Amino acid sequence: MADPLLDVALAGDALRQVAEAAGPYLDSLAGRPVLDHDALGLLAGLGGALPESGAGTAGTVARLVDIGTAAGTASSGPRFYHLVIGGVTPAALAADWLASLLDQNAYGRVSSPFATEVETVAVGWLRELFGLSTGWGGALVASATFANFTGLGCATQWWGERHGADTVSDGLAGLPRMPVLSTPYVHASARKALQMLGHGRNAVHTADLAGIRRRLDALDGQPAVLIGNAGEVNTGDFDPIAAMADLAADYGCWLHVDGAFGLFAALSPRTEHLVAGIERADSIAADAHKWLNVPYESGFALIKDPDRLGTAYGMPGAPYLPPVGDPAGGHAMFGPESSRRARALPIWATLAAYGRDGYRAMVERHLDLAQHLKRLVDDAPELERLAEVPLCIVCFRARPEGVPEEGLDEFNRRLGAAIVSDGRFLAGLTVHEGRVALRPAIVNWRTTASDIDLFVTTVRELVVSTTG
Ligand SMILES: *Cc1c(COP(=O)(O)O)cnc(C)c1O
Repeated sequence: MADPLLDVALAGDALRQVAEAAGPYLDSLAGRPVLDHDALGLLAGLGGALPESGAGTAGTVARLVDIGTAAGTASSGPRFYHLVIGGVTPAALAADWLASLLDQNAYGRVSSPFATEVETVAVGWLRELFGLSTGWGGALVASATFANFTGLGCATQWWGERHGADTVSDGLAGLPRMPVLSTPYVHASARKALQMLGHGRNAVHTADLAGIRRRLDALDGQPAVLIGNAGEVNTGDFDPIAAMADLAADYGCWLHVDGAFGLFAALSPRTEHLVAGIERADSIAADAHKWLNVPYESGFALIKDPDRLGTAYGMPGAPYLPPVGDPAGGHAMFGPESSRRARALPIWATLAAYGRDGYRAMVERHLDLAQHLKRLVDDAPELERLAEVPLCIVCFRARPEGVPEEGLDEFNRRLGAAIVSDGRFLAGLTVHEGRVALRPAIVNWRTTASDIDLFVTTVRELVVSTTG
């Protein structure tokens, strides 16, 4: 039987098929619906039994391009405000294609000196971008969830050391439970990280700062981990990071800060006060696939004492692999993954292409857009803003005349469903202080004031049709 892969791989042609679709697709993002419900019928075309003999490269790529460009969520466009979803800058997109073209294993120098060097530079640039001093190091990981895992894994190793234990070699058995304290802003992914690290998601005790101090008093000198939250997802609000750093200093705690998107407040003089004191943290988790606008999957952890990364994530015991500290080693020794994609390429490219000034300008444009949205909400009699707007999220709900207070949650749930089925925009529902609300987040470089205007017009139309 013929081996279809020996039938000259037409990789160049296949890439051209994608490149040819790319231009029109990218051009369409400005106006296309976020979700085209009619196109979702195409998804049926993906299934069926595993083909015995394949359809070949060209036909298969064409099929996936057709289905994907029609039925994919246009979340890299300017009108997706659910979750916190960045787009992809042109330089990052091209560099990401290049990462696939070159298919480097960014494990270490032994697999790719090129990917290793790009990553070394990219981590250094991220450190500089956020104003951290030269001693800081970091790890590029798949997401902020993994960045939380990475930072809290270092915290775990530190905490074990305080108990005279080597948790990296011996695990947690025989130790007390690691005390983890945070505010109610703690993100579900920090809990998930603790769950993966064996502490359990319920390891976190949440309280306000006075409550955290009381709890630390009660621990009577036992080591503990604090999680500060720089950017809460409902409103974009911040824990007082400097005050948490004071607590950490007073009680000898490890301070981990989840700054998945909020770390980017450091880029503008208008918002840098929100992260004041962050350089006093021990570890910081953030996302690149949100406000840095690089493709998935991309997050990063920054660590004040980067040697801890090697201690926590080194992988000794395989004679064919270089040990930590070996010049043939590389970034896999300093993070939770081993073989990894060269996710540094888009980070490097976007920072090289647009620089600190470009990112400051983008963040400030988003701050302006959030204030613009805030004003439009405030000016609409049937909309009610539920929180201040310190950063890039506007939390509000509909409160149309004739809907009684006790019916507002139900009304806003129906409004949320109407926005989804309308498909022109996406802005998901949340519950903020007991009220069902929308909380659009603006972090995509493509979003403009006219998108925001049309978003509010659309929401107001849908309020009317939901009332009727
Ligand atoms: C998005 C987010 C996360 C998780 O990020 P992923 O990249 O989805 O893993 C963690 N913390 C905060 C505050 C977030 O906004």
